[in-house]
Amino acid sequence: MATCLVTGGAGFIGSHLTEQLLADGESVVVLDDLSTGQADNLAALKDHPRLSIRVGSITDQVALGEALAEADVVYHLAAAVGVKLVADNPVHTIETNIYPTEQILRLAAQGKKAVFLASTSEVFGKNPKESWTEEDDLLLGPTSKPRWAYGCSKAIDEFLALAYHRRFGMPVVIGRFFNVVGPRQVGHYGMVVPRFVDQALDGGPIEVYDDGQQVRCFAHVREVVRSVIGLVRLPAAHGQVFNIGSDSPVSIQQLAEAVAAKVGGNIAIRHKPYSEAYGDDFEDVRRRVPNLSKLRSTLGTAPSLPLGSILDDVLAWRREVRARRDASA
Ligand code: UDP
Repeated sequence: MATCLVTGGAGFIGSHLTEQLLADGESVVVLDDLSTGQADNLAALKDHPRLSIRVGSITDQVALGEALAEADVVYHLAAAVGVKLVADNPVHTIETNIYPTEQILRLAAQGKKAVFLASTSEVFGKNPKESWTEEDDLLLGPTSKPRWAYGCSKAIDEFLALAYHRRFGMPVVIGRFFNVVGPRQVGHYGMVVPRFVDQALDGGPIEVYDDGQQVRCFAHVREVVRSVIGLVRLPAAHGQVFNIGSDSPVSIQQLAEAVAAKVGGNIAIRHKPYSEAYGDDFEDVRRRVPNLSKLRSTLGTAPSLPLGSILDDVLAWRREVRARRDASA
Protein backbone atom coordinates (compact mmCIF):
# COMPACT_ATOMS: atom_id res chain seq x y z
CA MET A 1 0.00 0.00 0.00
CA ALA A 2 1.19 3.49 -0.86
CA THR A 3 1.81 6.53 1.31
CA CYS A 4 -0.10 9.47 -0.14
CA LEU A 5 0.54 13.15 0.47
CA VAL A 6 -2.71 15.11 0.27
CA THR A 7 -2.03 18.84 0.09
CA GLY A 8 -5.15 20.66 1.21
CA GLY A 9 -6.22 17.48 3.02
CA ALA A 10 -8.21 19.43 5.63
CA GLY A 11 -10.26 21.12 2.94
CA PHE A 12 -13.65 20.11 1.66
CA ILE A 13 -12.56 17.79 -1.17
CA GLY A 14 -9.21 16.92 0.47
CA SER A 15 -10.83 15.59 3.64
CA HIS A 16 -13.15 13.31 1.66
CA LEU A 17 -10.18 12.12 -0.40
CA THR A 18 -8.17 11.44 2.77
CA GLU A 19 -11.07 9.47 4.23
CA GLN A 20 -11.39 7.32 1.09
CA LEU A 21 -7.64 6.65 0.82
CA LEU A 22 -7.53 5.53 4.47
CA ALA A 23 -10.61 3.34 3.92
CA ASP A 24 -8.78 1.76 0.97
CA GLY A 25 -5.84 0.86 3.25
CA GLU A 26 -3.38 3.57 2.16
CA SER A 27 -1.33 5.74 4.53
CA VAL A 28 -1.90 9.49 4.29
CA VAL A 29 0.15 12.56 5.13
CA VAL A 30 -1.96 15.73 5.08
CA LEU A 31 -0.32 19.12 4.56
CA ASP A 32 -2.74 21.98 5.13
CA ASP A 33 -2.35 25.51 6.47
CA LEU A 34 -5.98 25.58 7.68
CA SER A 35 -6.62 28.80 5.77
CA THR A 36 -9.77 27.66 4.01
CA GLY A 37 -9.58 24.07 5.31
CA GLN A 38 -10.61 23.25 8.88
CA ALA A 39 -9.16 20.81 11.43
CA ASP A 40 -12.77 19.81 12.14
CA ASN A 41 -13.03 18.22 8.70
CA LEU A 42 -10.55 15.57 9.84
CA ALA A 43 -11.77 15.37 13.45
CA ALA A 44 -13.24 11.88 13.02
CA LEU A 45 -9.92 10.62 11.60
CA LYS A 46 -7.36 12.47 13.68
CA ASP A 47 -6.31 9.42 15.73
CA HIS A 48 -6.17 7.12 12.72
CA PRO A 49 -2.91 5.11 12.87
CA ARG A 50 -2.21 5.61 9.14
CA LEU A 51 -2.85 9.37 9.11
CA SER A 52 -0.36 12.11 9.89
CA ILE A 53 -1.60 15.72 9.84
CA ARG A 54 0.87 18.57 9.37
CA VAL A 55 -0.23 22.14 9.73
CA GLY A 56 1.84 24.10 7.25
CA SER A 57 1.69 25.92 3.97
CA ILE A 58 2.59 24.57 0.55
CA THR A 59 4.35 27.92 0.07
CA ASP A 60 6.81 26.85 2.85
CA GLN A 61 9.40 24.98 0.78
CA VAL A 62 10.85 23.10 3.76
CA ALA A 63 7.47 21.88 5.04
CA LEU A 64 6.48 20.85 1.54
CA GLY A 65 9.78 19.06 0.85
CA GLU A 66 9.60 17.12 4.14
CA ALA A 67 6.01 16.04 3.61
CA LEU A 68 6.73 14.99 0.05
CA ALA A 69 9.79 12.96 1.04
CA GLU A 70 7.50 10.55 2.90
CA ALA A 71 5.09 9.97 0.03
CA ASP A 72 4.90 7.71 -3.04
CA VAL A 73 1.91 9.55 -4.51
CA VAL A 74 0.94 13.22 -4.24
CA TYR A 75 -2.63 14.46 -4.48
CA HIS A 76 -2.15 18.20 -4.91
CA LEU A 77 -5.38 19.89 -3.89
CA ALA A 78 -4.14 22.86 -1.85
CA ALA A 79 -4.93 26.08 -3.68
CA ALA A 80 -6.61 29.43 -3.39
CA VAL A 81 -10.15 28.47 -4.42
CA GLY A 82 -13.62 29.95 -4.63
CA VAL A 83 -14.69 32.70 -6.98
CA LYS A 84 -15.13 35.23 -4.17
CA LEU A 85 -11.82 34.54 -2.44
CA VAL A 86 -10.01 34.63 -5.73
CA ALA A 87 -11.68 37.84 -6.90
CA ASP A 88 -10.76 39.47 -3.54
CA ASN A 89 -7.12 38.21 -3.45
CA PRO A 90 -5.60 37.89 -6.92
CA VAL A 91 -1.96 38.14 -5.73
CA HIS A 92 -2.43 35.42 -3.13
CA THR A 93 -4.15 33.27 -5.77
CA ILE A 94 -1.26 33.43 -8.18
CA GLU A 95 1.42 32.87 -5.52
CA THR A 96 -0.38 29.92 -3.95
CA ASN A 97 -1.47 28.26 -7.15
CA ILE A 98 1.66 28.38 -9.28
CA TYR A 99 5.04 28.28 -7.46
CA PRO A 100 4.25 25.38 -5.07
CA THR A 101 2.89 23.28 -7.94
CA GLU A 102 6.19 23.64 -9.72
CA GLN A 103 8.09 22.60 -6.60
CA ILE A 104 5.86 19.56 -6.14
CA LEU A 105 6.41 18.49 -9.73
CA ARG A 106 10.17 18.97 -9.50
CA LEU A 107 10.47 16.91 -6.30
CA ALA A 108 8.07 14.27 -7.62
CA ALA A 109 10.06 13.97 -10.84
CA GLN A 110 13.28 13.38 -8.86
CA GLY A 111 11.63 10.58 -6.89
CA LYS A 112 9.51 9.25 -9.82
CA LYS A 113 6.39 9.80 -7.69
CA ALA A 114 2.87 9.96 -9.13
CA VAL A 115 1.07 13.31 -8.97
CA PHE A 116 -2.62 14.12 -9.17
CA LEU A 117 -3.18 17.80 -9.94
CA ALA A 118 -6.55 19.25 -8.98
CA SER A 119 -7.57 21.66 -11.69
CA THR A 120 -10.88 23.29 -12.42
CA SER A 121 -13.58 23.84 -15.01
CA GLU A 122 -12.68 27.55 -14.62
CA VAL A 123 -9.87 26.91 -17.13
CA PHE A 124 -12.47 26.77 -19.91
CA GLY A 125 -13.44 30.32 -19.03
CA LYS A 126 -16.55 31.40 -20.90
CA ASN A 127 -16.32 29.04 -23.86
CA PRO A 128 -19.91 29.23 -25.26
CA LYS A 129 -20.16 25.53 -26.24
CA GLU A 130 -23.06 23.44 -24.89
CA SER A 131 -20.60 21.09 -23.20
CA TRP A 132 -16.83 21.05 -22.94
CA THR A 133 -14.39 18.28 -23.85
CA GLU A 134 -10.86 18.26 -22.48
CA GLU A 135 -9.51 19.36 -25.88
CA ASP A 136 -11.73 22.43 -26.17
CA ASP A 137 -10.30 25.94 -26.25
CA LEU A 138 -9.79 27.90 -23.06
CA LEU A 139 -11.63 31.20 -23.42
CA LEU A 140 -10.54 33.27 -20.46
CA GLY A 141 -11.64 36.88 -20.01
CA PRO A 142 -9.31 39.88 -19.80
CA THR A 143 -6.59 40.21 -17.14
CA SER A 144 -8.37 43.32 -15.83
CA LYS A 145 -11.09 41.03 -14.38
CA PRO A 146 -9.67 39.26 -11.31
CA ARG A 147 -11.96 36.23 -11.69
CA TRP A 148 -9.85 34.87 -14.52
CA ALA A 149 -6.70 34.78 -12.36
CA TYR A 150 -7.89 31.50 -10.90
CA GLY A 151 -8.53 29.65 -14.18
CA CYS A 152 -5.37 31.10 -15.64
CA SER A 153 -3.24 30.00 -12.65
CA LYS A 154 -4.63 26.49 -12.93
CA ALA A 155 -4.05 26.40 -16.69
CA ILE A 156 -0.38 27.17 -16.04
CA ASP A 157 -0.32 24.33 -13.48
CA GLU A 158 -1.70 22.02 -16.15
CA PHE A 159 0.97 23.09 -18.65
CA LEU A 160 3.63 22.48 -16.01
CA ALA A 161 2.27 19.05 -15.05
CA LEU A 162 2.02 17.88 -18.67
CA ALA A 163 5.50 19.21 -19.42
CA TYR A 164 7.01 17.40 -16.42
CA HIS A 165 5.24 14.20 -17.42
CA ARG A 166 6.59 14.44 -20.98
CA ARG A 167 10.07 15.35 -19.92
CA PHE A 168 10.60 13.09 -16.89
CA GLY A 169 7.99 10.39 -17.46
CA MET A 170 6.56 10.30 -13.96
CA PRO A 171 2.83 9.46 -13.76
CA VAL A 172 0.68 12.60 -13.71
CA VAL A 173 -3.12 12.90 -13.81
CA ILE A 174 -4.96 16.21 -14.12
CA GLY A 175 -8.59 16.41 -12.99
CA ARG A 176 -10.74 19.40 -13.88
CA PHE A 177 -13.41 19.58 -11.18
CA PHE A 178 -16.88 20.82 -12.12
CA ASN A 179 -18.92 22.22 -9.21
CA VAL A 180 -18.16 19.57 -6.60
CA VAL A 181 -20.54 19.76 -3.64
CA GLY A 182 -21.43 17.82 -0.50
CA PRO A 183 -21.04 17.77 3.27
CA ARG A 184 -18.23 20.01 4.71
CA GLN A 185 -18.39 22.55 1.89
CA VAL A 186 -18.84 26.01 3.36
CA GLY A 187 -20.41 29.07 1.77
CA HIS A 188 -17.94 31.78 2.90
CA TYR A 189 -16.00 31.65 -0.34
CA GLY A 190 -19.06 32.01 -2.53
CA MET A 191 -20.08 28.40 -3.20
CA VAL A 192 -23.72 28.36 -4.11
CA VAL A 193 -25.08 25.10 -2.63
CA PRO A 194 -24.05 25.64 1.02
CA ARG A 195 -25.16 29.27 0.74
CA PHE A 196 -28.64 28.38 -0.52
CA VAL A 197 -29.01 25.61 2.06
CA ASP A 198 -28.08 27.92 4.96
CA GLN A 199 -30.27 30.73 3.64
CA ALA A 200 -33.20 28.31 3.41
CA LEU A 201 -32.59 26.86 6.89
CA ASP A 202 -32.58 30.46 8.20
CA GLY A 203 -36.06 30.90 6.72
CA GLY A 204 -34.93 32.68 3.52
CA PRO A 205 -34.70 34.52 1.30
CA ILE A 206 -32.45 32.54 -1.04
CA GLU A 207 -30.27 34.96 -2.99
CA VAL A 208 -29.97 34.10 -6.68
CA TYR A 209 -27.52 36.26 -8.60
CA ASP A 210 -28.66 37.86 -11.84
CA ASP A 211 -31.58 36.13 -13.62
CA GLY A 212 -30.77 32.64 -12.30
CA GLN A 213 -30.59 31.24 -15.83
CA GLN A 214 -26.87 30.45 -15.52
CA VAL A 215 -26.34 26.68 -15.71
CA ARG A 216 -24.13 24.34 -13.67
CA CYS A 217 -23.82 20.57 -13.00
CA PHE A 218 -23.35 19.53 -9.38
CA ALA A 219 -21.45 16.37 -8.43
CA HIS A 220 -21.25 14.65 -5.05
CA VAL A 221 -17.79 14.88 -3.54
CA ARG A 222 -17.77 11.18 -2.57
CA GLU A 223 -18.20 10.15 -6.20
CA VAL A 224 -15.62 12.70 -7.33
CA VAL A 225 -12.89 11.42 -4.99
CA ARG A 226 -13.53 7.85 -6.16
CA SER A 227 -12.96 9.02 -9.74
CA VAL A 228 -9.73 10.76 -8.72
CA ILE A 229 -8.29 7.71 -6.97
CA GLY A 230 -9.41 5.42 -9.80
CA LEU A 231 -7.60 7.54 -12.39
CA VAL A 232 -4.37 7.75 -10.39
CA ARG A 233 -4.29 3.95 -10.09
CA LEU A 234 -4.88 3.46 -13.81
CA PRO A 235 -1.76 3.64 -16.00
CA ALA A 236 -3.92 4.40 -19.08
CA ALA A 237 -4.91 7.68 -17.41
CA HIS A 238 -1.38 8.92 -16.82
CA GLY A 239 -0.24 12.01 -18.70
CA GLN A 240 -3.86 13.01 -19.34
CA VAL A 241 -6.44 15.63 -18.46
CA PHE A 242 -9.97 14.61 -17.37
CA ASN A 243 -13.19 16.47 -16.74
CA ILE A 244 -14.54 15.21 -13.42
CA GLY A 245 -18.07 16.02 -12.33
CA SER A 246 -21.69 15.44 -13.21
CA ASP A 247 -23.17 16.17 -16.62
CA SER A 248 -26.76 16.81 -15.49
CA PRO A 249 -27.37 20.53 -16.07
CA VAL A 250 -29.51 22.64 -13.75
CA SER A 251 -30.14 26.39 -13.71
CA ILE A 252 -29.33 28.30 -10.54
CA GLN A 253 -33.02 29.28 -10.35
CA GLN A 254 -33.96 25.55 -10.45
CA LEU A 255 -31.36 24.86 -7.77
CA ALA A 256 -32.86 27.57 -5.54
CA GLU A 257 -36.34 26.13 -6.08
CA ALA A 258 -35.12 22.60 -5.31
CA VAL A 259 -33.49 23.76 -2.04
CA ALA A 260 -36.60 25.76 -1.06
CA ALA A 261 -38.85 22.75 -1.75
CA LYS A 262 -36.62 20.39 0.30
CA VAL A 263 -36.61 22.71 3.31
CA GLY A 264 -40.30 23.58 2.93
CA GLY A 265 -42.31 26.45 4.44
CA ASN A 266 -42.60 28.97 1.59
CA ILE A 267 -39.06 30.27 1.34
CA ALA A 268 -38.70 33.39 -0.81
CA ILE A 269 -36.22 33.55 -3.69
CA ARG A 270 -34.69 37.00 -4.28
CA HIS A 271 -32.59 38.11 -7.25
CA LYS A 272 -29.46 40.20 -6.75
CA PRO A 273 -27.28 41.82 -9.44
CA TYR A 274 -23.74 40.47 -9.88
CA SER A 275 -22.37 43.96 -9.19
CA GLU A 276 -23.82 43.88 -5.65
CA ALA A 277 -22.54 40.35 -4.99
CA TYR A 278 -19.03 40.51 -6.44
CA GLY A 279 -18.32 44.13 -7.41
CA ASP A 280 -18.43 45.88 -10.77
CA ASP A 281 -15.60 44.07 -12.53
CA PHE A 282 -17.15 40.61 -12.19
CA GLU A 283 -18.00 38.33 -15.11
CA ASP A 284 -19.93 35.08 -14.63
CA VAL A 285 -19.86 31.90 -16.72
CA ARG A 286 -23.38 31.42 -18.10
CA ARG A 287 -23.20 27.71 -18.85
CA ARG A 288 -20.82 25.08 -17.58
CA VAL A 289 -21.43 21.46 -18.56
CA PRO A 290 -18.68 18.87 -18.91
CA ASN A 291 -18.48 16.24 -21.60
CA LEU A 292 -17.60 13.12 -19.56
CA SER A 293 -16.98 10.70 -22.46
CA LYS A 294 -13.27 10.51 -21.73
CA LEU A 295 -13.79 9.85 -18.01
CA ARG A 296 -16.42 7.18 -18.76
CA SER A 297 -14.40 5.42 -21.44
CA THR A 298 -11.21 5.43 -19.35
CA LEU A 299 -12.64 4.61 -15.95
CA GLY A 300 -15.91 2.89 -16.92
CA THR A 301 -17.91 5.20 -14.64
CA ALA A 302 -18.60 8.85 -13.76
CA PRO A 303 -20.41 10.68 -10.94
CA SER A 304 -24.17 10.24 -11.36
CA LEU A 305 -25.92 10.87 -8.03
CA PRO A 306 -29.01 13.04 -8.71
CA LEU A 307 -29.23 16.58 -7.35
CA GLY A 308 -32.08 15.65 -4.97
CA SER A 309 -29.94 13.04 -3.19
CA ILE A 310 -26.97 15.40 -3.05
CA LEU A 311 -29.13 18.11 -1.46
CA ASP A 312 -30.52 15.59 1.07
CA ASP A 313 -26.96 14.81 2.12
CA VAL A 314 -25.94 18.48 2.40
CA LEU A 315 -29.11 19.35 4.32
CA ALA A 316 -28.63 16.47 6.77
CA TRP A 317 -25.05 17.65 7.42
CA ARG A 318 -26.00 21.34 7.88
CA ARG A 319 -28.85 20.39 10.23
CA GLU A 320 -26.43 18.31 12.30
CA VAL A 321 -23.85 21.14 12.47
CA ARG A 322 -26.51 23.66 13.42
CA ALA A 323 -27.95 21.34 16.10
CA ARG A 324 -24.46 20.91 17.60
CA ARG A 325 -23.89 24.68 17.52
CA ASP A 326 -27.25 25.37 19.20
CA ALA A 327 -26.59 22.72 21.85
CA SER A 328 -23.25 24.30 22.79
CA ALA A 329 -24.60 27.91 22.77
N1 UDP B 1 -24.60 32.08 -7.07
C1 UDP B 1 -25.82 32.60 -6.64
N2 UDP B 1 -25.95 32.91 -5.31
C2 UDP B 1 -24.93 32.72 -4.40
C3 UDP B 1 -23.70 32.19 -4.86
C4 UDP B 1 -23.58 31.87 -6.21
O1 UDP B 1 -26.76 32.79 -7.42
O2 UDP B 1 -25.13 33.04 -3.21
C5 UDP B 1 -24.46 31.72 -8.50
C6 UDP B 1 -23.18 32.24 -9.15
O3 UDP B 1 -23.36 33.53 -9.69
C7 UDP B 1 -22.91 31.19 -10.22
C8 UDP B 1 -23.49 29.91 -9.63
O4 UDP B 1 -24.35 30.30 -8.57
O5 UDP B 1 -23.59 31.51 -11.41
C9 UDP B 1 -22.42 28.94 -9.09
O6 UDP B 1 -21.59 29.69 -8.23
P1 UDP B 1 -20.36 29.03 -7.45
O7 UDP B 1 -19.57 30.17 -6.88
O8 UDP B 1 -20.86 27.99 -6.50
O9 UDP B 1 -19.54 28.26 -8.55
P2 UDP B 1 -18.94 28.71 -9.97
O10 UDP B 1 -19.35 30.10 -10.29
O11 UDP B 1 -17.49 28.53 -9.81
O12 UDP B 1 -19.56 27.72 -10.91
